[in-house]
Amino acid sequence: MSAFFAFENTFAAGLPELVTDWQAVAVPTPRLVAFNAALAGELGADPSALQSPAGIAILAGNEVPEGARPVAMAYAGHQFGGYSPRLGDGRALLLGEVLDTGGVRRDLHLKGSGRTPFARSGDGKATVGPMLREFLLAEAMFALGIPTNRALAVVTTGEQIQRQRLEPGALLTRVAGSHLRVGTFEYAARLGDPELLRRLADYTITRHYPELAESASPYLSLLERVIEAQAQLVARWMLVGFIHGVLNTDNVALSGDGIDYGPCAFMDQYDPATVFSSIDHGGRYAYGNQPGVTQWNLTRFAETLVPLIDPDVEVAVEAATTMLEGFPDRFGAHWSSGMGKKLGLTTEEADDTALFRDLLDAMQAGRVDFTAAFRSLAAALRGDGEAVTARFGAQSLIHEWLPRWTERLAHEGDASADVAAAMDAINPIYIPRNHLVDEALNAATEGDYAAFEALDAVLSDPFTEQPGQERYAEPAPADFNKGFQTFCGT
Ligand code: AMP
Ligand code: MG
Repeated sequence: MSAFFAFENTFAAGLPELVTDWQAVAVPTPRLVAFNAALAGELGADPSALQSPAGIAILAGNEVPEGARPVAMAYAGHQFGGYSPRLGDGRALLLGEVLDTGGVRRDLHLKGSGRTPFARSGDGKATVGPMLREFLLAEAMFALGIPTNRALAVVTTGEQIQRQRLEPGALLTRVAGSHLRVGTFEYAARLGDPELLRRLADYTITRHYPELAESASPYLSLLERVIEAQAQLVARWMLVGFIHGVLNTDNVALSGDGIDYGPCAFMDQYDPATVFSSIDHGGRYAYGNQPGVTQWNLTRFAETLVPLIDPDVEVAVEAATTMLEGFPDRFGAHWSSGMGKKLGLTTEEADDTALFRDLLDAMQAGRVDFTAAFRSLAAALRGDGEAVTARFGAQSLIHEWLPRWTERLAHEGDASADVAAAMDAINPIYIPRNHLVDEALNAATEGDYAAFEALDAVLSDPFTEQPGQERYAEPAPADFNKGFQTFCGT
């Protein structure tokens, strides 16, 4: 078989304690239902070869491509606060790594490839709805400019898989900066082998933060960089109204990319308490809790690094604690600067925080659509005041807020048209709204991919108005989101 990818296997070779060599389970009739040709090209693969039967056999796990060394990766994780010492890839395999056309090492990973030794009670399978959701969400994030893993392909298998009902089986081919997670460190730390932990930390540094190799305290610096990357990521999520849904430590990537889009969702009406995940009963991973829970997750990461940071435990803990205590400020700085940009500001002033808070209060009081609100503000700058009233209502606090914002903009003195254009360049019109995603995935589960393809296409260009696609910009019909839940039983 010809080489589809120039695979390397540095993780499996360098950290054999953290992988199990394994094979995908063969599937009867693979069919390619979603494919990312641009990403295939980025990975140095021939898109048409990958869409041929030989390529689809690889994407289905029926053939091991030349040079790949499929492994299930071991990791642990804190799930909803409780520690699970052994999670790992229960239904996924790392095929290997590919250097992309920019020279960046990327993981190729099959999800839904059958039971592995980490499967516990799971069937090792995935179904088409959740795999298409992950495809759609990852690519929408990419189009929004938010750090994320990517989706190369979804293949249906020809099997029917038992979930709440029988559903078509599928695999996702995922592409990620790496699959190094906080949970990978938790797993390695509990093995009690300091040399292994150091090798894992060194691998992470080489892969994601190579400049730290020369640092005087590389492991403390690694902690700092991961804290910074997560502060930035979560701020970006908050600024588009995204709720990851399962921010367990095994779903926190050390690269700073978003990963594992399971029961995630975008909120329509602004409300920090918004939760959609069917398994998040206490609201631990509610929209507004994401920064706090990320700091909690990072604390779990820091704990694993203590033996590497300093031979004196007290010294190490103190240094790590100081670093962790900086998280809220780092998050706040990214959030404020992002919020300022969403409102067309290019400088920061002391009173801006109050301006931002009061806008959010007006949104919350009026149950205003978070995404559409920012586009309506840009419209107001262009002289269309009706757009704001249409979103916020005639009685809204927004009408007292608008003159304050106008005055604040005047400090910068830019022409309104330019400010509005700058706002529109970063405030999306189109996001993966729950009712649209739901509609597309339900149809796909019945074998009709048209809605999925249409939504995927609209989301690939989220900032530009697309004539005829108005319904994709509107929030769900009243009451849709009230009972809406996303399911983790994927
Ligand atoms: P997730 O909630 O997708 O992040 O997965 C948490 C853990 O459950 C990971 O160890 C997964 O590999 C495992 N898992 C989830 N679904 C299945 C399944 N159907 N079969 C086997 N393992 C699974
Ligand atoms: Mg996961």
